[in-house]
This record gives sequence, structure tokens and C-alpha cells, in this order.
Amino acid sequence: MILILEADLAEQSPVFQQLLTRLKAMSDIQYRIHQEQGVEQLLSEIYLIGNTKSLRVEDMEALPGVKQAIRVSKEYRMLGRYSGDHRSQGFDYNGVHFGQDNLNVFAGLCAVDTPEHVEQMMKALQENGQVCTRMGAYKPRTSPYAFQGHGQACLPYVFELAGKYGMRVIAMEILHESHMDEIREALEKTGHPTGVMLQIGTRNTQNFELLKAVGRQTEFPVLLKRGFGITLEESLNAAEYLASEGNTKVVFGLRGMKTNLGDPHRNFVDFAQVPTVKRLTRMPVCIDPSHSVGSRDAGPDGIPDVFHATAEGVVAGANMVLVDFHPDPATALVDGPQALLLKELPWFLEDVRLARETYEERVLLAAAQGVAE
Ligand code: PEP
Ligand code: MN
Repeated sequence: MILILEADLAEQSPVFQQLLTRLKAMSDIQYRIHQEQGVEQLLSEIYLIGNTKSLRVEDMEALPGVKQAIRVSKEYRMLGRYSGDHRSQGFDYNGVHFGQDNLNVFAGLCAVDTPEHVEQMMKALQENGQVCTRMGAYKPRTSPYAFQGHGQACLPYVFELAGKYGMRVIAMEILHESHMDEIREALEKTGHPTGVMLQIGTRNTQNFELLKAVGRQTEFPVLLKRGFGITLEESLNAAEYLASEGNTKVVFGLRGMKTNLGDPHRNFVDFAQVPTVKRLTRMPVCIDPSHSVGSRDAGPDGIPDVFHATAEGVVAGANMVLVDFHPDPATALVDGPQALLLKELPWFLEDVRLARETYEERVLLAAAQGVAE
């Protein structure tokens, strides 16, 4: 059960303390406090575990400081969506909003290779009104002999260039908790010119110790990719690991599923599940068309498959698009074949805008039928 408390209730306040006294008196119930300082107010929630079946919602709502009590299912306790749950979803980070109602595009390099390419990429993004990007410094590679990313060494110039070109959030995969410290340190040394969204890749979706470590910090939001060969439920539980440790600023990323059916795409595109994840949880949902499709191939209509897959996800309500671009894909050290060209960026963004507009019109159409929430 979740108890949602009145806004701006400090833990030291008499009302909060009275509530805790009452909870401590319940012998087979344990609790965990979660507080989040929003832009306007301090939000507090208390998660009750143990024999909560015996508790009545009305009784809990009568406790001091409690605004609402919500009975939750065992799964996705913190990130799940429940009936009667009117908590606002989403979060703000470094001036960018992440929610189930908006859309952010993160176009950028799969892997940082040279400062020149980072600069060309960011310049193009700024010229096209973008404030978010992706920049891989730590790369999980199938072969131990393949380029593993420049790691810590590239962080200072990546962050400085991000500041120069107005990038507010960089999605950056980490493979180990020490990478978080390296990112924090480099941000400090460069004077925090930008923000970082820590990405947990599909190979690490069930790396529980990494999830716990990333969940214990709340400075950086997290993009958790779906595991390529596990159920959706297992991946959503992985996201819950982050939240249960304290970090609820989590975006869930669909990136295609591994199949061995001789598919034309690198992975089987799973973007039909965007609305499913939004229905089951309160997380914003990201799509990664590049790692799903894996090539720059185009249909007979002249539209690249990556554009088509993006449109599928956006038209279904995706909230974030993570997409590979490169100034010179032929020399890219990782995933060149799927990187879009910089000259294609304005086209891609316009295509995304059209798909988003269609989604918004579809929401209005649904509302007119009286079927929306
Ligand atoms: C990536 O986004 O660079 C990446 C490696 O993605 P995934 O974990 O989905 O393969
Ligand atoms: Mn890649």
C-alpha cells in the first residue's frame, strides 16, 4: 500500500512524526519513506510492506497527514499505475521535462570517437533546436577486441562541447557503478555545463547490483533499456529495482527483441508495446529505432526503416526517441551502418513532428469517443 501525504510535509513536523508513531505501532507492517522535492512542492510517499491486506484504505486515509491511500499490486509497487492514483507522473531534470505526455528526441553518436565528430553533431543539434543528445563513452561490445569506447578520457570534452552548444541532457550508458563516479567527477571539473541521463543497456537490464547502485543515487535520472531476451514483465521489474532503492526518475526504453528468424532488422521492433508500458506504469517510454532496425535501408517509398520504426513508436505515444546519427558513418567506430546522416537530421525531426501531431490528434479523437481516462 502507498500512503500519499499532504504536500510540503517535512519529516520533522509533528504531523509526520505522529503518523510514524502510528505506523510503528502496527506490528506486522514495515514502511519506507520516499520524498521528492519538486519544483513547487515537497512530495512525500510512504510505502507499506508486510501484511497490508489487513489494512483498510479508509482507516489509512484517516491517519494524520495522509491525503490518499492506494492499494497496489505486488509488482511495480513504486513505478506502477493504479486505479484512483492521480499522482503526477514524470520528472524534470536540468530544465527538461520527462513525462508520459511529452516527447524529447535524443539524437547523437552511438559512440564518441573524435572531438570533431562530437562538435559537428552538437552543432547540428543546436541548429535544429535540440537540447538533448546521446553520447556513448562506455560501450558494451560483443567482442573483447572491438573498440570499448573512450570512457573517462572523453568526458571533459564531451561535457564542455555540450555546454558550448546548449545541450541540457546527454544519455550515456554506464556498465559499472564506478562509471557514475567518473561522470560525476568530470561534470564537477568542467563546472556542470550539462546534465547526464544514465543509460542501462539491454545487456545489463538484469544486472541487479548495478541497478541497485544506480537506484541509490538520485542526482542522475536513468534510462533503462528493455532486456533483449526476457519478458516485458521481467524488464519492468528491473526498473522497479531502481525505484525501490530510491530513484524514481526512470525512463523505460524499448529497443527491439532478439530473434533468430532471419529478420530483416537487427532486432524485432516492439514499439506496439509503448502504450502497454504507459498503461502498466507511470514511466515515460523511450524508443530506440536505431538499435531495433540496425541499418540505413529505406523502403520503396524512399523513407528509411529507422524513420518508419520511429514514426510507429511516436504515433503510439512514445515520450523519448534515442537515435544514432554520425557526421561520417563510414568511419564510425561503433554501429556505423545504422547511423543516420547529419543532413538527414532536419528531415528526421520533421518526420517525428508529423508523427507526434498525429498522435495528439488520435488522443483528441479518442477523447471525443469518451474512452480516454
Ligand atoms: C546503445 O544505446 O548504445 C546500446 C548499446 O543499446 P542497447 O543496450 O539497446 O543495445
Ligand atoms: Mn550502438
